[in-house]
Amino acid sequence: MRAGAPAPDAEGVAATAAATLAAGARSTQRPVFNLTGTVLHTNLGRALLAEAAVEAAVEAMRSPVSLEFDLETGQRGERDDHLRGLLRELTGAEDATVVNNNAAAVLLVLNTLGQGRRSIISRGELIEIGGAFRMPDIMARAGTTLHEIGTTNRTHPKDYAAALGPEAGLVLKVHTSNYRIAGFTAEVTARELAPLARKHGVPLVHDLGSGTLADLTTIGLAHEPTVREAVAEGADLVTFSGDKLLGGPQAGFIVGRAELVAAINRNPMKRALRVDKIRLAALEATLRLYRDPARLAERLPTLRLLARKAGEIEAQARRLLPAVQTALGGLAAAEIRACTSQIGSGALPLETLPSAALALTVPEDSGRALNALAAALRELPVPVIGRIADGALLLDLRCLEDEAGFLASLTALDTGDHGLA
Ligand SMILES: *Cc1c(COP(=O)(O)O)cnc(C)c1O
Repeated sequence: MRAGAPAPDAEGVAATAAATLAAGARSTQRPVFNLTGTVLHTNLGRALLAEAAVEAAVEAMRSPVSLEFDLETGQRGERDDHLRGLLRELTGAEDATVVNNNAAAVLLVLNTLGQGRRSIISRGELIEIGGAFRMPDIMARAGTTLHEIGTTNRTHPKDYAAALGPEAGLVLKVHTSNYRIAGFTAEVTARELAPLARKHGVPLVHDLGSGTLADLTTIGLAHEPTVREAVAEGADLVTFSGDKLLGGPQAGFIVGRAELVAAINRNPMKRALRVDKIRLAALEATLRLYRDPARLAERLPTLRLLARKAGEIEAQARRLLPAVQTALGGLAAAEIRACTSQIGSGALPLETLPSAALALTVPEDSGRALNALAAALRELPVPVIGRIADGALLLDLRCLEDEAGFLASLTALDTGDHGLA
């Protein structure tokens, strides 16, 4: 309480106490509206699951399941069996396994094939994904010796050939998913590298990062390497994420040659990195959707959102604008602005998608007032997360499907409490 402010009355104290209790009873991980324009937003949980995957996960939560139980023989089964067939069919690989996430997949592959030996990688591919996932650190933890070759901008076949000696455990090719090296560059593609590695009897591992099982050009995006292509190019193992472009729950896939997958499954670390029945159920249901490519973009939220056209999003903005203006009261003005969304999570980092936003501006055009407005939207019953750019709080509508829920949340806007009004 500020000095000189009137003492609160009993009702005021009771209301404050009730609000504090209500806040304490609420989950801290809460549903939000992702209007940031980043479809696969790592901090907002990446891919949204398809309804079929949600249903499968709920069923697996409620009931015992045949997780490691062969219903035909009544004998013990393997949890990987639920995905193995689907992954082989969708990628063309001989065998497949799944772990906690793609970081775990890379760690497990490096440890299985590279422990006590060298892992050969181009200097141009020594990536940091974000957080603590930096390739040199992961290699150290996996017990393999980093053998950098080439230079940042140029690596040639002869650089790989010189490194492929008896101490080499694997060659790692990493899809530089979150940046591009442009200009005077040279890279050895996986297709060129595969015969070279094979000649020396060293496995080639290709970390695709996002990877995709679908041809993204069919929904108007640039071409992103598919897992099937990476397998066909001759990589012995390919790793990729479950919750990036694939559109499933968090997971990491390892697909490729059967004897290498078997070696990975024998690694005791596999047990520490495996996935539970709930995610397996959701993964299986997600992968099944890929069997019907014609209906995929409609059933898989990630592709559905990425496929939305700017014109459709702008029409949605026009539809919502009057109600949003009413909810904002005098707090902020709203107008429609063209903007660009991005895929996120490192997939096609240079590709932007034309979209439309509700641009909220405040009379006093200061960064502080916009931050206060953003904070007010984060306090809504279902918080609304936008992004501040070009003097406005942009609410990119690409990922807004529940319009009624959004408007209902906005009507709770407290127009008096943020030093805004
Ligand atoms: C995202 C990414 C990873 C890590 O995948 P997670 O599923 O987030 O653990 C690894 N390698 C590359 C190239 C990536 O883009």
